[in-house]
Amino acid sequence: KFITFEGIDGAGKSTHIAHVAGLLAARGLELVSSREPGGTPLGEKLRELVLHESMHLETEALLVFASRREHIAQVIEPALARGAWVISDRFTDASFAYQGGGRGLDLRKLEALAEWVHPDLAPDLTLLFDVPLEVARARLDATRDLDKFEQEKADFFSATRNEYLRRAAQEPGRFRIIDSTRSIEAIRVELAQIIGALR
Ligand code: C5P
Repeated sequence: KFITFEGIDGAGKSTHIAHVAGLLAARGLELVSSREPGGTPLGEKLRELVLHESMHLETEALLVFASRREHIAQVIEPALARGAWVISDRFTDASFAYQGGGRGLDLRKLEALAEWVHPDLAPDLTLLFDVPLEVARARLDATRDLDKFEQEKADFFSATRNEYLRRAAQEPGRFRIIDSTRSIEAIRVELAQIIGALR
């Protein structure tokens, strides 16, 4: 199985990934836990470029998909082929949300890239950690990422969140929207139910 974790910055996604990994590991599965952009040595270099260099929007999209191509070839496909489970902190939905929704790249270009890079691969389950902007902002204020939020602007995250929600509505079978305004404990109860039902 291939499970992805998505959500805007401040939605609490990272808090829950380790917990879900623990739930799966407790079942005795071979588990590969990874992230995007990144997931391979080359992918991590591309991540640094994407996060810290300014560049044309389409360059950014191409680098994110280049990172993904490497991640699929080196990590995801080999793991799935030997029967391991893969969890990834972000995947293609993040490209649609950030480069498409947030930055305004034509979604058809992103669809073409997705079709090119992984025509036959899609997550079995995508957990979308969703919070209203004000909640995300308050959480980021309380931690390290205040500057990032101030720079990137609320309307960027609003458009990013909306694209995530639009995709979730299009593919309700793949997505589970996790109401991330609730307590960590309440979310863990829901995650245990979702993960427990996976075979
Ligand atoms: O989830 P994580 O905190 O690792 O994401 C780091 C940053 O990567 C996010 O704040 C987001 O701005 C950026 N990102 C992006 N495009 C993607 C994936 C992530 O701009 N496709």
